[in-house]
Amino acid sequence: MAKYDYDLFVIGAGSGGVRAARLAAISGAKVLVAEEHRVGGTCVIRGCVPKKFMVYASEFAHHFETAKGYGWTVEGASFDWPAFIAEKDKEIARLSGIYVRNLQNAGAELVHGRARLVDAHTVEVEGRGSVTADKILIATGGRPWRPSELPGCELAITSEEAFHLPQLPKSIVIAGGGYIALEFAGIFAGLGVDTTLVHRGPNVLRGFDDDVRAHIAEEMERRGIKVLLGTQHTALEKTDTGILNRFTNVHHCESDVVMFALGRVPYTAGLGLENAGVKLADNGAVVVDAYSKTSVDNIWAVGDVTDRINLTPVAIREGQAFAETEFYGRPTTFDHEMVALAVFAQPPIGSVGLSEADARRQYGKVDVYLARFRPMKYAFMHGEEKCLVKLVVDAASQKIVGCHVVGPDAPEIIQMAAIAMKMGVTKAQWDSTCAVHPTLAEELVTLREKYVPQGLGQAA
Ligand code: NDP
Repeated sequence: MAKYDYDLFVIGAGSGGVRAARLAAISGAKVLVAEEHRVGGTCVIRGCVPKKFMVYASEFAHHFETAKGYGWTVEGASFDWPAFIAEKDKEIARLSGIYVRNLQNAGAELVHGRARLVDAHTVEVEGRGSVTADKILIATGGRPWRPSELPGCELAITSEEAFHLPQLPKSIVIAGGGYIALEFAGIFAGLGVDTTLVHRGPNVLRGFDDDVRAHIAEEMERRGIKVLLGTQHTALEKTDTGILNRFTNVHHCESDVVMFALGRVPYTAGLGLENAGVKLADNGAVVVDAYSKTSVDNIWAVGDVTDRINLTPVAIREGQAFAETEFYGRPTTFDHEMVALAVFAQPPIGSVGLSEADARRQYGKVDVYLARFRPMKYAFMHGEEKCLVKLVVDAASQKIVGCHVVGPDAPEIIQMAAIAMKMGVTKAQWDSTCAVHPTLAEELVTLREKYVPQGLGQAA
């Protein structure tokens, strides 16, 4: 007679939870997964996947502009928001179905309902009652954060609702300067919405390389997005025609929709983690060790709920490492170094390794290589749009410690750069790679002149 009902109970059927559950079940473990919403989690249901479809939809406006330069006449193009949303939802439902089938094919059981820990081995599941498990994995992800103290806060949407707006607004104000703010600003502006981005900091994308930050802000403005920096909302007020946005230091404005993209918080509220003694950080994240184990010996956590690197592929690798360690007898940790990042802004950003500023802090002396140029595809557009490539090299070892690209296909390019950098590539080895011509990526392997920012001289 087994001591527990299940070998593994997974709370949350997102990317990390599903990967761990499948691998555990394939190893022969008895696995139950609880999900309170739809299977697929943030990535599939209300994040990466629907967002990328929206990016694709919105990029056509720019493609049409480019096409004109090549002799095309693009008259009468129009966009049907409800038709797009219906197609997008169909595809999301299909993908969610695949996740369900993958779990079933692996032999894991799925229960729809909210789960709450009663103690370290007992979980109460809505509609199922009390279940016991040897091991428990928390994979509940994150939720958008809202500034509840802001007057009129409830008038704003977050990215969750942006995927289901009944109609395309004429105007939108997006608060925030992170991934979601930039990506949705690009989406709405591309779809013809009068778009304003409001950010409290001196520039967007804190933590990214400063040249990238300055470049993307400039390019977003070139594409018609109003970027208000050093500014915050002081209130939102409903009017007869929309929402009045009041700001700290610029004139108020009205918009049809206001969207908060002010960060996400780990989704641990109401999970009963305190009943099992699971330690949380101040922001509610589950504290874990390198093996994703919590402060309780039989409970683990992976993905955004741990607030390490909040990206789908990272959650998947954390879930996989957990399963390999616990169900295949192969102690495995995921290395959080040199994880490539992509921001699907317009133009998009790809980045891996350190910003120039962080590299200077870490290594002291660094060599910088940088180029700004007009992408070949836009040669006939007579516009000013530029892309940026930048390498940061540790001067002593000559290893490339940062690679940053802003421009068409930057996320595709950065994946390949990450492989070489993870292997510790030096600038000389990188340069020995023959260019692929004519491409944007070739600019990365033909950077020869060290870049000295204006006013810094050789001491930099
Ligand atoms: P981010 O953490 O990226 O950005 C949050 C933004 O909100 C920052 O600009 C921050 O400013 C600002 N902010 C935070 N608190 C306040 C406040 N009280 N008042 C005003 N501004 C505030 O969060 P996102 O919501 O954009 O995305 C969440 C996470 O999801 C990302 O960090 C990323 O890990 C992941 N993600 C990844 C994507 C991808 O891989 N392409 C796409 C979307 C999300 P400041 O910088 O000054 O702190």
